[in-house]
Amino acid sequence: MTDTIFGKIIRGEIPTDIIYEDDHCIAINDISPRAPVHVLVIPKKAIPRLADASNEDQELLGHLMLAVGRVAEQLGVSDAFRVVINNGSGAGQTVFHLHVHILAGADLAEAGMAG
Ligand code: AMP
Repeated sequence: MTDTIFGKIIRGEIPTDIIYEDDHCIAINDISPRAPVHVLVIPKKAIPRLADASNEDQELLGHLMLAVGRVAEQLGVSDAFRVVINNGSGAGQTVFHLHVHILAGADLAEAGMAG
C-alpha cells in the first residue's frame, strides 16, 4: 500500500494543526494556500485517487462531502466556497491520497471555474 505525507499526518507522525476530525476524515490547512481559505479534507482511508474509489467507498465519499460542508460552516465560508478534487498528475494531483480542496475568501465568481 502506498504511503504519503497525508498518511503520516493522519497517523500523527508529522505534527500538523488538525482543524476538524471525525471517525473517517480530517481537515488541515493547505501548506501552500492558493486562496485566503484553503483547507484539505482527507479521508483516513488511503484511496490514492478518486478514480480508485470502489463501490465499498460509497458511504465514505458521501461522508466526505458532508464533512466538507461542516468544515466550511466551521470556517464561516459556507455561503461561498469551491470544492476541487484533482485526479491524476495530469490534473495537478501531487499527493496520491484522495483529498478535497476547499477554497474560499477570494472572489470565486470572478474566477469562474478556475481552480
Ligand atoms: P493536489 O495537488 O490536489 O494533490 O494537492 C495536494 C495539496 O497538498 C497541495 O495543495 C499542497 O500544498 C498540499 N500539501 C502538501 N504537503 C502538505 C502538508 N504537509 N500539509 C498541508 N498541506 C500539504
